[in-house]
Amino acid sequence: MAAKWVYLFKEGNADMRNLLGGKGSNLAEMTNLGLPIPQGFTVTTEACTDYYNQGKKIAEEVKGQIFEALGKLEAMQGKKFGDNDDPLLVSVRSGARASMPGMMDTILNLGLNDIAVEGFAKKTGNPRFAYDSYRRFIQMFSDVVMEMSKTFFEGILDEIKEAKGVRFDTDLTAEDLKEVIGRFKAVYREKMGEEFPQDPKVQLMEAVKAVFRSWDNPRAIVYRRMNDIPGDWGTAVNVQAMVFGNMGDTSGTGVAFTRNPSTGEEGIYGEYLINAQGEDVVAGIRTPQPITKMKEDLPECYAQFMEIAAKLEDHYRDMQDMEFTIQEGRLFFLQTRSGKRTAPAALKIACDLVDEGKITPETAVLRIDAKSLDQLLHPTFDADALKAGEVIGSALPASPGAAAGKVYFTADDAKAAGEKGERVILVRLETSPEDIEGMQAAKGILTVRGGMTSHAAVVARGMGTCCVSGCGEIKIDEEAKYFELGGHKIAEGDHISLDGSTGKIYYGDIRTKEASIGGDFDRIISWADKFRTLKVRTNADTPADTHNAVKLGAEGIGLCRTEHMFFEPERIPKIRKMILSDSQEAREEALNELVPYQKGDFKAMYEALEGKPMTVRYLDPPLHEFVPTAPEDIGALAQDMGLTAQEVQRKCDELHEFNPMMGHRGCRLAVTYPEIARMQTRAVMEAAIEVKDEKGYDIVPEIMIPLVGEKKELKFVKDIVVEVAEQVKKEKGSDIRYTVGTMIEIPRAALTADEIAGEAEFFSFGTNDLTQMTFGFSRDDAGKFLDAYYKAKIYESDPFARLDQNGVGQLVEMAAKRGREARPDLKLGICGEHGGDPSSVEFCHKMGLDYVSCSPFRVPIARLAAAQAAIHSRED
Ligand code: ADP
Ligand code: MG
Ligand code: MG
Repeated sequence: MAAKWVYLFKEGNADMRNLLGGKGSNLAEMTNLGLPIPQGFTVTTEACTDYYNQGKKIAEEVKGQIFEALGKLEAMQGKKFGDNDDPLLVSVRSGARASMPGMMDTILNLGLNDIAVEGFAKKTGNPRFAYDSYRRFIQMFSDVVMEMSKTFFEGILDEIKEAKGVRFDTDLTAEDLKEVIGRFKAVYREKMGEEFPQDPKVQLMEAVKAVFRSWDNPRAIVYRRMNDIPGDWGTAVNVQAMVFGNMGDTSGTGVAFTRNPSTGEEGIYGEYLINAQGEDVVAGIRTPQPITKMKEDLPECYAQFMEIAAKLEDHYRDMQDMEFTIQEGRLFFLQTRSGKRTAPAALKIACDLVDEGKITPETAVLRIDAKSLDQLLHPTFDADALKAGEVIGSALPASPGAAAGKVYFTADDAKAAGEKGERVILVRLETSPEDIEGMQAAKGILTVRGGMTSHAAVVARGMGTCCVSGCGEIKIDEEAKYFELGGHKIAEGDHISLDGSTGKIYYGDIRTKEASIGGDFDRIISWADKFRTLKVRTNADTPADTHNAVKLGAEGIGLCRTEHMFFEPERIPKIRKMILSDSQEAREEALNELVPYQKGDFKAMYEALEGKPMTVRYLDPPLHEFVPTAPEDIGALAQDMGLTAQEVQRKCDELHEFNPMMGHRGCRLAVTYPEIARMQTRAVMEAAIEVKDEKGYDIVPEIMIPLVGEKKELKFVKDIVVEVAEQVKKEKGSDIRYTVGTMIEIPRAALTADEIAGEAEFFSFGTNDLTQMTFGFSRDDAGKFLDAYYKAKIYESDPFARLDQNGVGQLVEMAAKRGREARPDLKLGICGEHGGDPSSVEFCHKMGLDYVSCSPFRVPIARLAAAQAAIHSRED
């Protein structure tokens, strides 16, 4: 049987999301529920993949099925596509498996041409409406299909509005619009070198192709990378009979959520516009009305709308984001999907739905996007600083949070400033999907136009970035890079502050403070803890970080990087002295001065942990990281060591390495200078024994040797550790237990994991170095070329942020398996950046690791992700 590439809405359902995309499968589901849906059909995601496989061509078979489905749609609608008197018009809409709002393109009113528009005007008795529809179609087709700049058309429209002395598109008459169309077509002819296509079949196939193509537009690629959406999924195309919200004052279009997407509060939440079509609501051209206003304007539609909205939420058991259109008093639904929401809203909605008996705690746990918990840990304004702040304006509180920083007016400038480490506030007339990277770089976003569901608002909420939108009082000059508000002229680089929760805009740089988390969060996380099997530890080097991580639920420290303890002003001269000393005696002397500091740190850490475990990693970085560069530091060191500044400088120069990342670092330091390992062992053991005796905690020190590639190398260092540890135990009269393990971060260690497990009682996967060494590119330099790799679709995501399961993951899997074969009770963990990335946490769960370790703020993310992984693996 030939493959089926096209499904009528009534042939699909919500479970066919992978094939029909989110939009298509939900349109099918709503059709089956008997809701008022303009009918149509979906060209599958497989057809999109096929299009790319065929070298960007639509196969004849696919084309044939499209026109076959179109024939059936004609029969259902009682209208013919391409008819001159009463044409069937359609929209062509993209729809991938995962929702990618605004990333790909939609074309409305397709099927009109110079002749059909006349028939359409006569048939509807509404010439103004007919010409308005045609001019919109020309505009969208030229933009989406032919990739002509929108500015040509917007310019013409503005000119004609000005010439006619009107403010809004809706004030243009049929005759005005005919003039608009004439000029649009002339521009099209001029720029494209051909007439605007008049054959509806050609229009349709070109539009379908354009949607397939849009899957690979640059902003869609960036969006996929940010949201972990694989590039090979493809998008479906929905072809749907048009309904018209632009037929007059009993028509309109809108978007609404069944609950408030910012706060999770119950109650319908949305906006609509009378006499408008499609994107008018979100484009921010006219300011939309709150949805409750519809109750006055069109009470019957409102009642029906409320009933269907409730039905959809019950059916999907989740907050819905819906799009609808009213055509001359008749309501149609055009889309529903689970609505994007802020993290606090997600938690509240999940908890409320559990309380309403609509979902189980397990489902509630699965509903929360683990990454989004980041938002809860985001700053608010310091209350006192805020009181003193000067409010210069206010607008819509589009995405909560507080942000203060320097103003930039383009996405590129914002991105560049963000990369320099500046706190950036992006100020735009309105944002569009092209701005995505600048928005990502910004701490806060301020727009002049656009409502609560504008692009800026939706995208900012998704990213958890503070956003204030629709500040019409602003006079902005994007070219000259300044704006005026509340009596201030604010130029590029000046400071402002935004409160995304109140919509207030402040002059200057207002201090922000960290967020605190509340009841819904605790409920979800405590449910998560019941489901997960993976333990969650933290990477922490100071008592302050440890306290913070423990508060966020860390069950221990998976990585304490001891080198970070040496950078304080009174310590660094001592380690420098050690590094630059020529004899073992001199080094030991310098190290002995460090013991009290190191021991004090470990004691404070053990106390903060109150008996929870801690893995201490021995000195790891290349030594030159400690070497002085400032003349006064060199001078001080020279004096201390009884040398001249030149002699010190020469010793420093000798430490230079061509490739320090692969140089004299990690356990190689302990192999060349065993006294370093001796000093560290004494500090750990004395600290552990003292805290154990003083506080009664059951402490078992875990000593971790970094950068091991060979069993004998590990054994060499371990022998030193054991010798000193036993000696300290004897001195202190203690019978404390301790374990010695290693990092697996060199491919050779993974390959020989069975041998290494003979000496190691635990493995901790150091996936930062393991990734670096497996890919063969440095994590400090990869940023320079990875962008080119994303663009060329060689890599889809940053392997340092998201574990490369296909390559690096194989090494992890192999090492875990071989290690456990050699030592069944081998403890396994991960301590790279990946420990806080949800997809990597899921991988660690599958590999049977005992724990993940991540930075303190990511501990809640890892707890939730670990629960989700456990629930998923039970479902499989
Ligand atoms: P997006 O995925 O960017 O939201 P959509 O495919 O949902 O794009 O289309 C955008 C808007 O176009 C919809 O919200 C709706 O208002 C309008 N639209 C799409 N199809 C139709 C149709 N068949 N009839 C009327 N309006 C439509
Ligand atoms: Mg939509
Ligand atoms: Mg490392």
